[in-house]
Amino acid sequence: MSENSTQGDTICAISTPFGMGAIAMIRLSGIQAIHICNKVFIPNNKNTDITNVSSHTSHFGKIFSDDKTLLDEVIVSVFKNPHSYTGEDIVEISCHGSVYIQEQLLQLLIRNGARSAKAGEFTLCAFLNGKLDLAQAEAVADLISSDSNAAHKLAINQMKGGFSEQIKLLRNQLVEFTAMLELELDFSEEDVEFANRENLAKLLTNISTEVSALLESYSLGNVLKSGIPVAIIGKPNVGKSTLLNILLNEDRAIVSEIPGTTRDAIEDTMIINGVCFRFIDTAGLREATDKIEHIGIERTYEKIAKASIIIYLFDICEDNIDDIKIAVNEIKAKAGDGARIILVANKTDKLIEEPKGFAEIVEFDTIFISAKRRENINLLTARLLRAVNDDLANISSTVVTSSRHYEALHHSMDSLAEASDALANGVSNDLLAEHIRTALHHLGEITGDITTEEILDSIFSKFCIGK
Ligand code: GDP
Repeated sequence: MSENSTQGDTICAISTPFGMGAIAMIRLSGIQAIHICNKVFIPNNKNTDITNVSSHTSHFGKIFSDDKTLLDEVIVSVFKNPHSYTGEDIVEISCHGSVYIQEQLLQLLIRNGARSAKAGEFTLCAFLNGKLDLAQAEAVADLISSDSNAAHKLAINQMKGGFSEQIKLLRNQLVEFTAMLELELDFSEEDVEFANRENLAKLLTNISTEVSALLESYSLGNVLKSGIPVAIIGKPNVGKSTLLNILLNEDRAIVSEIPGTTRDAIEDTMIINGVCFRFIDTAGLREATDKIEHIGIERTYEKIAKASIIIYLFDICEDNIDDIKIAVNEIKAKAGDGARIILVANKTDKLIEEPKGFAEIVEFDTIFISAKRRENINLLTARLLRAVNDDLANISSTVVTSSRHYEALHHSMDSLAEASDALANGVSNDLLAEHIRTALHHLGEITGDITTEEILDSIFSKFCIGK
């Protein structure tokens, strides 16, 4: 059992955000939770004995300090084990949200036998008590930090346990086979075959296909969680920084009339209709005249390669269609698979007559804007959303969002491949069983069937205190 286990201890923490609020909530969990609450809480209803109330009930009353002075009027909610978040007895005390009251109440509970909870300890306790598996516990942290519709949807899906179910099914199938292989090892002298080799080969292929689909979903999951990378590319002075400032509604990038002033890439995120975009302004694409600018252009290429969407911005009065075509081809060569390129013509406010090659520019499905006058920016945001709509539609199937899960899937994929090779080459049973056991081990790391102190610490230390 992990040393983080609350076994024997009763933990407490303020579960609402730090600072003043209308109401705050302090949570106690553990064997002494109700007893400790009883020491400091007097219910308004004289007939209520807090040590004897039903689970999932709330009670109004008063909390008194050690010197018997009234600290606050509160609502106490009782959740009895095993039907609580942690699986232990839980008492939630809702008090007035003054920082003073919150701290005094916390200290009072500690003086009466509780101890301060560590980050994520309530959820760790829920995991150790089998209330949720590791992937679901991690989804709780994602849910708390989700700041867009897409990230929220991913976290909810994972918390509901769909991903864990899928991993468990894969593991169960492999477990059955390893059991049979091990049985064969026990009877090795009799040369019996309990595990059908053909079926095992099929099973390994099916599982590998499923694991590889999960691995592939990670690029989408990662991008949706941390923001879809959108690179804004274009020659110096076409208005990239101006556009970025408008998209982000703040003056972050340096807007200047001297070409090449955005030396480095600037990144910031913005949520449009529930989708998080990570905008990246880059140094221009033109030939570098000095060393610093050269580094900037190299970075531009890197950003193009990493971007899911590339906005190519040009000046409708200055840039000609041939230059635009060259730039688009250059971007296409540097862009990753599946990246989308959106052509945006800027400075329409300066336009006096129809520019040369206008028909061809239109043919590229170009969006015409004036960044300076904030005209048609809505057309651009609508196009950005349209570009990710297909990806968003995929969220209903399992999407891997955590690098820890990705790594474990990768390792299990390697072992599955080794097992398939071993099977094809008629390698000994114990080696075959060993590869399958390793694959099982890595799949088990995802749900927490296999876990170490280190894994738990690294996961739960990222939680906030009180969760
Ligand atoms: P960057 O080098 O591509 O980042 O370009 P900047 O955003 O620094 O803009 C260069 C110059 O073009 C600045 O003087 C901007 O005010 C100007 N500019 C940007 N957008 C527009 C626009 O839509 N119309 C006009 N007339 N000028 C613009």
